[in-house]
Amino acid sequence: MSTDLKSTNKLSVNTMRILIVEDENKTSAYLLKGLTECGFSAEVANDGEEGLFQATQYHYDLIILDVMLPKLDGWSIIKKIRSIKPDMRVLFLTAKDDVEDKVKGLELGADDYLIKPFAFSELLARIRSLLRRSTVQQSNIITRADLTIDLLKHKATRQSTRLDLSPKEFALLSFLAKHPGEVLSRTLIAERVWDINFNSDTNVVDVAIRRLRQKVDDPFEVKLIHTIRGVGYVFEEH
Ligand code: CA
Repeated sequence: MSTDLKSTNKLSVNTMRILIVEDENKTSAYLLKGLTECGFSAEVANDGEEGLFQATQYHYDLIILDVMLPKLDGWSIIKKIRSIKPDMRVLFLTAKDDVEDKVKGLELGADDYLIKPFAFSELLARIRSLLRRSTVQQSNIITRADLTIDLLKHKATRQSTRLDLSPKEFALLSFLAKHPGEVLSRTLIAERVWDINFNSDTNVVDVAIRRLRQKVDDPFEVKLIHTIRGVGYVFEEH
């Protein structure tokens, strides 16, 4: 059993499509029912291979992804999804509650992470928050000075030179470039790019910015990423 693609044709184009990759039938049935009742178009994939296939072949606005799955685990799936569809919203829903697993999931590019057992109301709130963010984005191409970012192709270039960025670096650069001239605090960047509230420890932002600069600014005369001491960063051409 997998999906009923035909049934989705009747739904309006504004209906958000969610893919549930989950091998526990009880959980997937519960999610399917709950999400459908809330007006989403939801489909289920029962194992990792099927999940990856559907995620890459069809359009979804968000994927709810289990980690421990038959055939292919959630870590492998998100890696592949990120290389093909970098902007796809992915929420891990898993029984693995170690901090290390959570960090791994987020580093691999998950947008959010929820531990089983979960409250449906919380899942719903997180889904809505993720979908709100993804619909804010208007254009797929950002152009600033000699920098061009293609959000769909996951490609960034300066003076026609392709920048070799990790998915996180790409997300970070895109976020900065979407807010030119705005001073962005470390906390805001951490929340928006990593989807984590780091509270006191925003060192991860500084480390990532440093690496990003080596690729985006160091080889070029015009610098784009600037430090505002004690506050954060600003994207500006000078
Ligand atoms: Ca599982």
